[in-house]
Amino acid sequence: MIDLHSHTNESDGTASPLELVELALERGVEALAISDHDTFAGYDEALPEARTRGLDLVCGIELSTRVPSGKSQSGHLLGYFLHQPATAEFRAWLDELIEGRRDRNRRLIASLRDKGVDIELPEVERLGRTLTGRPHFARVLINKGYAANFDEAFRRYLGETAPTYVERYAPYVAEAIERVRNAGGLPVLAHPIRLGIRDPNAEEAFIRELRDAGLRGIEVFHSDHRPADMERYGAIARKYNLLVTGGSDFHGENKPQISLGTGMRGNLNIPLTVLNDLRAHS
Ligand code: AMP
Ligand code: FE
Ligand code: FE
Ligand code: ZN
Repeated sequence: MIDLHSHTNESDGTASPLELVELALERGVEALAISDHDTFAGYDEALPEARTRGLDLVCGIELSTRVPSGKSQSGHLLGYFLHQPATAEFRAWLDELIEGRRDRNRRLIASLRDKGVDIELPEVERLGRTLTGRPHFARVLINKGYAANFDEAFRRYLGETAPTYVERYAPYVAEAIERVRNAGGLPVLAHPIRLGIRDPNAEEAFIRELRDAGLRGIEVFHSDHRPADMERYGAIARKYNLLVTGGSDFHGENKPQISLGTGMRGNLNIPLTVLNDLRAHS
């Protein structure tokens, strides 16, 4: 069993990189990708420990992008096997994305304060390391009694449909695909179900467009995918010659219903052959 999608506390997970390596070994995960949002810091920190302990650690990253289709108009792109250390160009781009988060975070604070929420940026930033994301805001809102749990914090304050929601800068998905490829990586569409494209024909057409823009794979196996979704995405991958990936999207205590390796209610058991196939094509 392998897991190619996980987050450490360098982005918006709660496990430190070392704890994540430990957990992977405990749970019998044969290969683990750390795919933090916008940073390699978690992967870099975990690598020596993984080598010592005999865990096959894969370098990944997850980027939030604008998509010209779907209900949410946003989609996540995973990148695997980027040249390490990453090119100066790619690292400079990540710095820009993190600066875009800072700008969003300042506007989000203003928006929340406008609605009478007593919250200040430093108390949120204290919970983050390389970056501060909405899950850190959720944690503060819960601690201060504004929400009972993450769901409520996103529904009332942080999610796309909340009155206090603010957008952050995101590159178009085609640009992100190109940048991952230029940095030597394999661009993969993360959890396609979250694009929210209801019509299967429109969904397939959109994935084909991404393939034409340079996409190399799709995340067929994911905690949010039902068996029928995995089947549909598997068929699309075969039809368009896209590589298949999969992972739990583990975020630690920030998404307690997701387990490393086995996903949501045990819906994942991804074989090592998936990784071998990826490597053969990287
Ligand atoms: P950000 O990248 O800072 O805009 O925050 C997005 C992150 O918030 C996602 O990667 C998820 O980890 C998390 N997230 C988004 N929606 C929810 C939700 N409804 N409940 C819990 N976590 C969420
Ligand atoms: Fe996240
Ligand atoms: Fe994601
Ligand atoms: Zn993720």
